[in-house]
Amino acid sequence: MPLHIPFDNSYAALPTDFYTAQNPTAVQSPSLIAFNDDLAKLLGITAGDVDEQARVFAGNVVPDGATPLAQLYSGHQFGSYNPQLGDGRAVLLGEVIGTDGIRRDIQLKGSGPTPYSRSGDGRAWLGPVLREYVVSEAMHALGIPTTRALAATLTGQPVYREAAFPGAVLTRVAQSHLRVGSFQVFAHRGQTEQLKTLTGYAINRHYPDAKGPMDLLRAVCAAQAELIPAWMAVGFIHGVMNTDNCSIAGETIDYGPCAFMDAYAQTRVFSSIDQGARYAYANQPNIAVWNMAQFATALIQAMDDKEAAVEEATAIIHAMPAQLEAAWLRRFGAKIGLSAPTPADQAMIEDLLALMEQNGADFTNTFAALGTPVARDQFSDPNAFDGWATGWQSRLQGAPDAAQVMAAANPLIIPRNHRIETMIQSALANDYAPFERLMAALSDPFANSDPALCKAPVPSEIVPATFCGT
Ligand code: AMP
Ligand code: MG
Repeated sequence: MPLHIPFDNSYAALPTDFYTAQNPTAVQSPSLIAFNDDLAKLLGITAGDVDEQARVFAGNVVPDGATPLAQLYSGHQFGSYNPQLGDGRAVLLGEVIGTDGIRRDIQLKGSGPTPYSRSGDGRAWLGPVLREYVVSEAMHALGIPTTRALAATLTGQPVYREAAFPGAVLTRVAQSHLRVGSFQVFAHRGQTEQLKTLTGYAINRHYPDAKGPMDLLRAVCAAQAELIPAWMAVGFIHGVMNTDNCSIAGETIDYGPCAFMDAYAQTRVFSSIDQGARYAYANQPNIAVWNMAQFATALIQAMDDKEAAVEEATAIIHAMPAQLEAAWLRRFGAKIGLSAPTPADQAMIEDLLALMEQNGADFTNTFAALGTPVARDQFSDPNAFDGWATGWQSRLQGAPDAAQVMAAANPLIIPRNHRIETMIQSALANDYAPFERLMAALSDPFANSDPALCKAPVPSEIVPATFCGT
């Protein structure tokens, strides 16, 4: 059966100042790298054959029912407002409603220039495409809200960054690509009608119970307050939490210079462009609050009684740190075996993290080993861990389900940065076996299906930085 995507597009029905109609730019010789059959099934897509997949997902053939467009948005990048960003190298093909009843966007990323490209080439290269493919699917398997990867293709054309690299296109699936920046652009331009329309659209699509802008704000704050502690519980550092990369649906979006940390360090940064450590591991909750304050500021522009709106929005934003802390405590409590941690348990968790940091302990492997005799081996001073473990064991007296709680909260495998880098190097040499191997192991992160991939890097293997170069 030929490839078929059951499009049901809603964004394209919004006024034309929300986007620019834009077809993907055809490429020289499209070829398929990967196609996600499970996700295709969820989306009700008939897969077709490999050649069709390559043509459609590289952008050479616009599938029936698609209404390709580039979305308008703006955003704060590293704290400074940029009045116009928009899809500079992506096009939204359209939306489908999955077998689970959820509406999702299908977007090509790296599909050629658009009116929002500024000085960019509209393209992506193989490395970032594979990084996003692997990491987004790994996040999904970890149970963390995220955009997903439907396909990756090669374009057969070079992309010029620090050098020439093979061009590639990622097909990204998201509950939507609405961002804080989608609202900011209209707020900053004083386009209140558009802002109201977008607010209604977002409520309809994502939070149908919300009664108005402040309910929407409350819902997005709640989603972000769940999401960031979920990242922290697996050692994930997004790296570029700009407001244009902050999803209204509460999904992790835009895997650029992201990475998972190996040894635990609060101040860990991977992104080579994050000079001020704005998006460091432990600063992510603060940034989520900052981003939601920008969202609130935008929403208020469309409200009639601004004074009352400011008061309500302020209360919502001020409630967020407590929500983040509660979600953090729930996540990290589970990591040490407590299904109902109390605020008094917070100190015990923080003590363990501090010991991990002082002793160079690997984040993932320490939690994975808790309760086994080898946990102490993660610490340069194992006695320091023993001291902590004595107090922990007595706390666990009242927690008979601790082993199951920990097993469900502590993954055995994460996409380690050195493995991602070697996977990319292999792919550049046309060897996709490491990509396939990572994908297979990461699909079940709570099982130890590939012990070598679970190992922390030895010092010579550590890849300390990621480069935007996307
Ligand atoms: P990002 O850092 O990927 O979130 O992108 C920030 C902004 O830069 C977005 O508006 C992107 O569309 C745009 N952008 C990033 N890379 C390119 C590129 N190669 N060509 C055109 N626009 C780009
Ligand atoms: Mg972005």
